[in-house]
Amino acid sequence: MRPERARTYQTEGIILNRRDWGEADRLITLFTPEYGKLRVVAVSARKPTTRKSGHLELFTRGRFVLARGRTFDKLTQAQTLDYFEGVRRDLARIGQAGMLCELVDRFFEEADAAPAVYDLLHNALLALNSGDPGDLVLLHFQMHLFDLVGYRPALHECVVCGEPVAPVAQFISVELGGVVCPTCRQRLREEEGAAAEQLVRPLSLNALKVLRFLQTAPWPRVRKLRLPDDVREEVRTLLELWATHHLERGLRSGRFLREVEAWYDAKKKP
Ligand SMILES: [Zn+2]
Repeated sequence: MRPERARTYQTEGIILNRRDWGEADRLITLFTPEYGKLRVVAVSARKPTTRKSGHLELFTRGRFVLARGRTFDKLTQAQTLDYFEGVRRDLARIGQAGMLCELVDRFFEEADAAPAVYDLLHNALLALNSGDPGDLVLLHFQMHLFDLVGYRPALHECVVCGEPVAPVAQFISVELGGVVCPTCRQRLREEEGAAAEQLVRPLSLNALKVLRFLQTAPWPRVRKLRLPDDVREEVRTLLELWATHHLERGLRSGRFLREVEAWYDAKKKP
């Protein structure tokens, strides 16, 4: 929670979102280690002469001074700590950083303090900035975000019968929260018919291994992973489905990333 008594307070934060507000103001969504997500107004931030505006770009990490207000607190000072220039030089990385921010924005209500998520986001931005593989940054981030918000996929025991998962192709269910073994899937199909097809989708053994690796391995090992295209696509689709199921709405930046990639692919073709 915000400090209740002080009229002004300071915090470090990462800018998750910003939009125009009124005539010349901006409404900024900040993610902070101590106070969680805060929505604050940057007065006159859209006037070109204002000194604040340069510090208020999306996914900038900064130090902010805020004054308590009736509806929204007001941003009175902003100082950039990290602009993540390496990210901003590359359209695909900008999209990936945007997706990190959107996921955090959507998974958190205002004022839910979550210092571990702040560190996760900060480290993912640092990895993107240093040129680490962006697709892996995103997959690793999602897997750990699900863990920290209580939606960790169960990958070692079948979520229906509880038996250990054998090293063969499996099934997985977003609704049921993890891997469903072939025996349980067969039984579900006999009992539920077509409804089971909706509920439980196939999961290749390679994708299962990658999911487990993402869940437990530290980033320096994950960043060296080389994924065949089909496995990466399977894992990516599944994690996007996992996020959207829990958020109940489509992620805009996921679509944006696919558009960027389609654009690059089209350019590559002779
Ligand atoms: Zn089972």
